[in-house]
This record gives sequence, structure tokens and C-alpha cells, in this order.
Amino acid sequence: MRADEPLPDLEAFRSEVRSFLRENLPHDIRERVKRGCNDFTTAELRDWMAVLAHRGGWSCPNWPAEHGGPGWSHAQKYIFEREYALNHCPKLPNGGSAMLGPTLMHYGTREQKNRFLPDILTGKTFWAQGYSEPNAGSDLASLKCRADRDGNHYVINGSKIWTTGAHTSQWLFGLFRTDSSGRKQQGITFLMIKLSSPGITVRPLPMFEGSDELAEVFFDDVRVPVDQCVGEEHDGWNVSKYLLSLERFGAAHIGTTTARLDRVKELAATTPVGEASLLDDPVFANKLAQAEIELRALDVTEQRFLLGSSGAEAAMLKIRGTEVQQMVMELLVEVAGVHAQLAPDTGQEDRPRHAPAGAEYAAHGYFHFRKTPIWGGSNEIMRNIIAKAVLGL
Ligand SMILES: Cc1cc2nc3c(=O)[nH]c(=O)nc-3n(C[C@H](O)[C@H](O)[C@H](O)COP(=O)(O)OP(=O)(O)OC[C@H]3O[C@@H](n4cnc5c(N)ncnc54)[C@H](O)[C@@H]3O)c2cc1C
Repeated sequence: MRADEPLPDLEAFRSEVRSFLRENLPHDIRERVKRGCNDFTTAELRDWMAVLAHRGGWSCPNWPAEHGGPGWSHAQKYIFEREYALNHCPKLPNGGSAMLGPTLMHYGTREQKNRFLPDILTGKTFWAQGYSEPNAGSDLASLKCRADRDGNHYVINGSKIWTTGAHTSQWLFGLFRTDSSGRKQQGITFLMIKLSSPGITVRPLPMFEGSDELAEVFFDDVRVPVDQCVGEEHDGWNVSKYLLSLERFGAAHIGTTTARLDRVKELAATTPVGEASLLDDPVFANKLAQAEIELRALDVTEQRFLLGSSGAEAAMLKIRGTEVQQMVMELLVEVAGVHAQLAPDTGQEDRPRHAPAGAEYAAHGYFHFRKTPIWGGSNEIMRNIIAKAVLGL
């Protein structure tokens, strides 16, 4: 935006977003999200994405107008993300909208953009990210899953692990070894693969807290046309670095954490302690205030990053964002008390009358958020990035 352009009316924008979300999000989805449920069918998510897409590309809030997105400024995106979470909208699969889509806009051919972007926008295709392998996580460049060139195809053999949503997605983007002769960062190629291709086996990896979002993907002579390569062959490392920085930027989830903290306060206010409520308990109130201070500081930090960048912002937001998420989940478990142990699928009706609403998801959510410092690059790796980019170590 040029200095002489008028500032958009952000409060009017906020009201417009809020009204739309309140009027259009199905009531039962809102109530489930509010209680802490994160389990939605593909059909539910797809329908909701279609509603958002129809509104002017709101399903992909980071996309420019030329690709069907809303073309929002940083400030508008920030407001949308907050309103989306505060109005209890469900988390949408972001492999396509937040990761592959912007990467294709940057590195993809015109044909690739025309072929893949519209279906991401409308929620018709969900994408999984195939980076990690059993021996290549933090040290991603050690990946070994091979893609051998055979005429106009690559032939893929090997496996990927910890692939979020592989069993609920139709496509996967990932990194594959096309040459082993140079440095390990060289000879990696970024490919897009249809998950129904012959030779692919997807095996779900159930988590102990009950979630089933992760899977392993096995490739056995899977043939992939060369026009599904993004960027240059052997140059996938650079494509992936671009994509990873997008992924880490979304990792702070400040809006969602704010909505959860509001929920903690609401539940604490209705949890009796003697004559008063848990909210009046000085020890609990102190912890609550601490979490709120941390969250506000993170929020201000993110807003500051909207104005300028030093290269390591995404890493900073990832670390603090995940730490504050965990702080808030601990408080939720504390409020829920023994009821936190109820299995999520016991449902509202089976809840004992004195259990706070949403308590049945507290333990599930708590354990879910133990994983967040690991995905998208662990927090230790994020600290290494900050040490190099900011401290020059
Ligand atoms: C819930 C969840 C979802 C995920 N989704 C996906 C997905 O969709 N697609 C995908 O490709 N991957 C996904 N991952 C994988 C994730 O990216 C890796 O787990 C992560 O990069 C860490 O790799 P690793 O598990 O192999 O651990 P390792 O790399 O073996 O690390 C083990 C420990 O050592 C530490 N460590 C390693 N190297 C260093 C170092 N140089 N300095 C300091 N400490 C170090 C790490 O921080 C960690 O604590 C997901 C993981 C989780 C938990």
C-alpha cells in the first residue's frame, strides 16, 4: 500500500467478517469447536470451505485476488484469522491453501496453477505434505525416498512418515531424491502425487490420545508424470525452504489460543470453590493472568512482524505460539479436573451433570498440544534458526 492511499476501514471489515461467520457457520459445528472438538468429516469441512470460497475466496485468506483469493492486506488477514477463531470456526486442512497454493504461485508453471489452484480454493482437493521419513525429520536433507527418471515419468520407491491427513487427502506434495551424487541438499525434487496412484499404500498411525490424523505412506514403483514437478528437477530444497517458512508462520495460532483461554475463564467462572468460583481463587487467577500476559505479548509481537521482517520471525512465533498453547491447555485440564479424563466420544449427553461442558475434550486437547513443538520443524531446530539469523552464531 502506498503512503498516500487511504487506510481501509478495518473496524468495518471486522464487523463484516464477524457477521458472515456468525450467520453462515452451521450451529452444531460452532458448538463442537467451542467444546474443544477437532474431529470433523471431510464432507463437513468441504462444505464449509465451499461456503467460504463462494464469499470471495475466504477459504484461502492468504491468496491474492488474481488466483481467486480475497487479496487482503496483512492487517485484514490478521483480523480474519482472529475472527475465524473467536467465532469457533473449525480448523481447515491447510496443506493446499497455506502451503502448496502459495508455493505454486511462486514456483509453478501456468499449467500447474490453472490445474491445481481452483480445486484447492473450493475445497475439492485436500493436500498432504510428504517431507518426513523414518530417518529424515530435523535432518530433512537426508531423505532417501527415490524418484528415478524414466522418460516422461518419475518412478517412486520408499516411504514417508508422520504425514498429516494422508488418508483424508486426494493429493500429496513432497520431496524425493532424484540424485545422490552431490551435497545432500542437492538432488532433491519437489513432486505432486495423486494418492490414488497405483503402488501407493497409506497406513494410518493412530495416536495414543485418540486422534487419527497421521499416516505412513509407502511407494512401490509409483509412476508420476514429470509435469507434476514443481520448480526445477533437483532444486526441490529451495522450493521446500520457501514452503516451510509459510508453514511456520501459521503455527502461532493466536486466535485459537485466545478462544481457548476465553473458554478456560468461562468454565472457571462456573466451577464452584467453596462459596466462590475457581476464577476467584488467587493461585488459579495468577496462572490465568500469566497466560493472558504471554498471549498478549505474542499477539503484539505478531502484529509487529506484520510491519517488517528479520528472517527468523516464523521461528520465533512457532516457539512462543506452541509454548503458550500448552500453557492454556494445562489450565483447561486444571479447570476440568477429574472430568478431563472422560473420553471425547462419550458426547454431551453422557456427561455427568456436574461436569463442565467441554471437559471431555480437555485431556485429549492437552495431549494433542504436546506434539505441536515437534511438527513443522521442532522448536530446537527453530532455536538454531534464530541463533543463526538473529544472533549470527
Ligand atoms: C503431529 C505431527 C504432525 C506432523 N505432520 C507432518 C506432515 O504432515 N508431513 C511431514 O512431512 N512431517 C510431519 N511431521 C513430522 C515432523 O516434521 C518431524 O517429526 C520433525 O521434523 C522432527 O523430526 P523427527 O520426528 O524425525 O525427530 P528427530 O529429527 O529425530 O529429532 C529428535 C529430537 O532431537 C532434536 N534435534 C534433532 N536435531 C537437532 C539439532 N540439530 N539441534 C538441536 N536439537 C536437535 C529434535 O528437536 C527432537 O527433539 C509431523 C510430526 C508431528 C509430531
